[in-house]
Amino acid sequence: MAKKLARKAPKKAASSKKAPKTKKYVYFFGNGKADGDRTMKDTLGGKGSGLAEMTNAGLPVPPGFTISTDACMLYYKEGRKVPAVVEREMEANLAKLEKAAGAKLGDAANPLLVSVRSGAKFSMPGMMDTILNLGMNDKTVEGLKARTNNGRFAVDSYRRFIQMFGAVVLEIPKDAFEHELEAVKKSKGAHSDTDLDEAALREVVTRYKAVVKSKGKRDFPQDPLEQLRGARDAVFRSWNNARAIEYRRIYEIPDSIGTAVNVQMMVFGNTGDRSATGVGFTRNPATGAKEFYGEFLINAQGEDVVSGVRTPQPITELEKVLPQAYRQLRQITTRLERHYKDIQDFEFTIQDERLFMLQTRNGKRTGYAAVVIATDLVSEKLITPKEAVLQVDPESVSQLLAPVFDPKAWKALPVATKGLPASPGAASGQAVFTADDAVEWTRQGKSVILVRKETVPDDIHGMFVAQGILTATGGMTSHAAVVGRQMGKPSIVGAGALEISESGRKFSVGGQTIKEGDFVSFDGLTGEVKLGQVATKPSEILQVVAGEMKAKDSDVYSRFEKLLSWADKYRRLGIRANADQPDQAETAYAFGARGIGLCRTEHMFFGEGRIPIVQRMILADNEADRRKALNELLPLQRGDFYGVFKAMHGNPVTIRTIDPPLHEFLPKREDLMVEIAKMEATGKTGKDLDEKHKLLRRVEQLHEFNPMLGHRGVRLGITYPEITEMQTRAIIEAACQLAKEGIKVVPEIMIPLVGHVKELRDQKAVVERVAAEVMKEQGVKVKYLVGTMIEVPRGAVTADEIAAEAQFFSFGTNDLTQLTFGFSRDDIGKFLGAYQDRKILDKDPFATIDTVGVGSLVMEGVRKGRKTRPDLKVGICGEHGGDPSSIHFFERAGLDYVSASPYRIPVARLAAAQAALQVKVGD
Ligand code: ADP
Ligand code: MG
Ligand code: MG
Repeated sequence: MAKKLARKAPKKAASSKKAPKTKKYVYFFGNGKADGDRTMKDTLGGKGSGLAEMTNAGLPVPPGFTISTDACMLYYKEGRKVPAVVEREMEANLAKLEKAAGAKLGDAANPLLVSVRSGAKFSMPGMMDTILNLGMNDKTVEGLKARTNNGRFAVDSYRRFIQMFGAVVLEIPKDAFEHELEAVKKSKGAHSDTDLDEAALREVVTRYKAVVKSKGKRDFPQDPLEQLRGARDAVFRSWNNARAIEYRRIYEIPDSIGTAVNVQMMVFGNTGDRSATGVGFTRNPATGAKEFYGEFLINAQGEDVVSGVRTPQPITELEKVLPQAYRQLRQITTRLERHYKDIQDFEFTIQDERLFMLQTRNGKRTGYAAVVIATDLVSEKLITPKEAVLQVDPESVSQLLAPVFDPKAWKALPVATKGLPASPGAASGQAVFTADDAVEWTRQGKSVILVRKETVPDDIHGMFVAQGILTATGGMTSHAAVVGRQMGKPSIVGAGALEISESGRKFSVGGQTIKEGDFVSFDGLTGEVKLGQVATKPSEILQVVAGEMKAKDSDVYSRFEKLLSWADKYRRLGIRANADQPDQAETAYAFGARGIGLCRTEHMFFGEGRIPIVQRMILADNEADRRKALNELLPLQRGDFYGVFKAMHGNPVTIRTIDPPLHEFLPKREDLMVEIAKMEATGKTGKDLDEKHKLLRRVEQLHEFNPMLGHRGVRLGITYPEITEMQTRAIIEAACQLAKEGIKVVPEIMIPLVGHVKELRDQKAVVERVAAEVMKEQGVKVKYLVGTMIEVPRGAVTADEIAAEAQFFSFGTNDLTQLTFGFSRDDIGKFLGAYQDRKILDKDPFATIDTVGVGSLVMEGVRKGRKTRPDLKVGICGEHGGDPSSIHFFERAGLDYVSASPYRIPVARLAAAQAALQVKVGD
């Protein structure tokens, strides 16, 4: 079975001689020099580029080589086969590695062992696979034993390798191996893996081989090169495992970029008590505090720390046990932070007191920490304000708005237990014990806390929907902690006092039992867990914005405001808000919106006591009655507009005339029929019953087969001009009143759903006539604009004609997306999943603008509109206005502003700055 170990030397011609013309697929690093560097993440992946950069910087990195992401793409292109050119380059680099390491793969006397590690451009913690100790076989295990004089270590390395190779390459369920390990531990009375001696481990190896034979239907491969090829291909394959695909969907990472494979000489943290392995951060990734942070395990290897099977020690303890290595680690990581100008997340191994760096990358952090770190790095003069603006993910600032517990309600409950505070935030919800349940319960509208012994990468869908994540084992760098932080999800890990029965769907702590559905609350900043429901309250930032707290008393608010004011310096796009009520407008203003991009007047119709008046207006069968009802609405609308204008302090306010079909203001047909049937059954007659019948008749009259394409928008104004008249009057009267008070206002009256210039012309005439009347009555002149929403494809296509009448455009990208795709926004849920699975659509086009189709209508609309009217003001007011990647598109499209919902304003400010900075290349 074991093939000959010595291989033919690779042909020289294949590697170097004709290299310039052919593409390079494998990059070497070692002996202080690397083929790649930090700029090559696309090709080498994040891990590979970090290893190269650290090697070039002279840091102690075990030598190795990186098989590029291009090779991964080729592998898929060729139907999951590695082409000969990649194979040749790999073998050539292996020879180089053997030389650098002074050992040979498969050499019985002096074996080289390697790790085979995945590594894509974007880090995807735990989503893909890594194999350690490759090169172990029945012969090399004895060679390793002889060389190291450490039989236990040699056999432990072998059993780990069989386990990882079996699971990852041969796809044998992990449990099958765990089961055997447990059995041996039990028979020897061992508590921990480290209690097993060489003989016991040899028994584990024998059992593992039997597992491979029975479950994998083959002998465990003894040929190291076959092992290497198998591991490499398994890493390529793991790019497309279900959890990696799900992860990429959530984080919007393209499926097409592939992963690199890093093959690296092994160093050993499991040779004994002078060895260790660990992970860490240069700052606290949960709070952003400047403190050395991390965990390690003595006498252990790689995955032991992150998998949560053994609870690691805090890194400060390392100073006591291995002081020299600790000091060197601090030096190196401080240097790395200065070099990368960002918090570093690093992995290291200490072999017999010698430190090796195995990974460094910019650390994932909570939104809270992101803002703290960026503002601190500026104070420390490590980065400029501009770099700080580019460093923070816009979604981070929205995490800062998440609720916190009401302190009184929180204090009222006793602390049930404390765990490690992995990701800050207040979480309260019903306990569920599986990721699938979390998804199902959330679908039913419940808020859940996902409670697990430890999370595994397959739980990602449940973690995504839960209010918070609570685990019993694992450290601050366990899977649950890393993923929780990245999602901005409150998380507590390692709450060891919880006795969790996942199958029994319950846990107990301190004598109390919590069953599925019972309420649990916890504070991800302190690690305290409480049993029961606790009311949450707005974050400090919201309290400052609402005037309930002073800005100077809130550290987080000061940092938030500092960062956003830097962003304001760099952005070109104006930021407005979608807001219909004065209080919303005030919030938006406090968040930095300077203008309203969309005030939906119909929302005002739903205000208290208004709906009966609106219904009377709709039920009127003649113009006179309709006007009577409208006259009642007039002062109410005028009051709203007055408030909204005032809240905007002289910034422009775009008010849209009525948009939805009228039946939306009436009860549902089915409900009315039930009510009528009930009244008739109980013998009720008279006026009430007559009115219900009348209402039902009108509802039936207004019924439409397709309301989205029905009697709505400008079509309403054209058939009932008195509605437009009333709304114009309310707007201009409010503006005149404010003008008299010395407050400047610039109303922008916006007609929705225009597809033909003549529609706009018709309504504009109404607006201008009424506006002139009002100004004459009031004896004041106010400036106002009339414009339109561009949301019907015909409107975008004929924008040059429409611009002759419109003084501004606002792209209504919600309707424009509906009408361009022909997808109903309310029904897309039925097939979007299938579209994404089949890669017909990458993203939900209602969340992130489809730049190719809908986007080209926007571009076309802007171009044609400005051709007719060079000073045309153009904005966007669909949901896309608060979506960072859509904002990048609007920057490129040359819009004047984006309008977003009030709570998205901070995100939009930061995203707009990043968009502007990336357009200006070269600085
Ligand atoms: P992940 O991307 O999931 O973090 P890695 O490829 O970084 O996976 O591997 C996980 C761990 O395995 C590392 O943190 C390290 O402890 C260990 N490891 C990887 N390569 C080596 C090596 N050459 N020598 C020793 N340990 C290694
Ligand atoms: Mg790693
Ligand atoms: Mg619309």
